[in-house]
Amino acid sequence: MSRTVLITGGSRGIGRATAILAGKRGWSVGVNYLANAEAAAETVRSVVAAGGQAIAIPGDVSLERDVIAMFDAAQAAFGPITALVNNAGIVAAKSTLAEMTLERLRRVFDINVLGAYLVAREGARRMPTDRGGPGGAIVNVSSMAATLGSPGQYVDYAGSKGAIDALTIGLGRELAAGGVRVNGVRPGIIETEIHASGGEPDRAALLGPSAPMGRAGTAAEVAEAIIWLLSDAASYTTGASIDVSGGR
Ligand code: NAP
Repeated sequence: MSRTVLITGGSRGIGRATAILAGKRGWSVGVNYLANAEAAAETVRSVVAAGGQAIAIPGDVSLERDVIAMFDAAQAAFGPITALVNNAGIVAAKSTLAEMTLERLRRVFDINVLGAYLVAREGARRMPTDRGGPGGAIVNVSSMAATLGSPGQYVDYAGSKGAIDALTIGLGRELAAGGVRVNGVRPGIIETEIHASGGEPDRAALLGPSAPMGRAGTAAEVAEAIIWLLSDAASYTTGASIDVSGGR
C-alpha cells in the first residue's frame, strides 16, 4: 500500500536512509530538516531517483508552530499522512552530569523529548480513524542509550531516549483502537554525522568493534527496521521497540 510519510530530521543520517528506502517503495515523503537545506535537497533528489515523490520541509521539532506547519506542508503536497517517523534528535558533547549546564540540558530535552512528543501529538491528532484520519503507523527513533544509561558520556541523551521508549508503549495503546500502530527502534552505534556534532567524529569507528557483531551499523540497516514497522507486514505489532544494535 502506498504511503504518505513525514520524516523529521530526514535530511541526513538515519532519516535520509529511511526516506530513500520509502522512495524505493514508491511512497511520498515529507523530508523535514532544521537548517541544512542542501542536505534536504539531496535527500529529495535521492527519493525521486529511487522511485518516490518528496518535498523538503524546514522546521524545528521543538517549536509547536513549526510542527503543525510541517504536517500541513506534507499533507498539502501528498494528502493525509499515513506514516510518521519521529526521528530528529541530537547529542551534546561527552560529559558527566555534574558538568552539564542548564542550557545544554534544556536543548537536549527540548529537541529530543518535547520535540518528539509534539510531533507524536500532531500525528495522534491527525492520523487515527476515530478522529477522521486514515490510520497508519508511527515509528519513534530511540537509542540503545535508553537501556545503557551512557554514564560519563551523556546521561541526558540516554534519559531523553528513555522518554521515547515510554511514549512508544503508551501511545501504542492509546492509538490502537484508532488504527494507528506506534513502535520504536533503538539503534546502537550507527555511522552518521551525529557523532561529529557531539564532538566525537570517530566514535563509530572506535566503538563499533566493541559491539557483539564487531562493527558499527549503517543508517540503511536502521531504515530497514523502520520501514518494516511502517509497512503492512508489521500489521499486528504495536507498542514494541526493535533493537538495531549488532547485539549491544
Ligand atoms: P544526524 O545524522 O546528526 O541527523 C540529524 C537530523 O536531525 C538532521 O536531518 C537534522 O537536520 C535533524 N535535526 C536536528 N535537530 C532538529 C530539530 N530541532 N528539528 C528538526 N530536525 C532536526 O543524526 P542521526 O544519527 O541520523 O540520528 C537520527 C536519530 O537516531 C536521532 O534521534 C538519534 O538520537 C538516533 N540515534 C542515532 C544513533 C547513531 O549512532 N547515529 C544511535 C542511536 C540513536 P539538519 O540536516 O537540518 O541539521
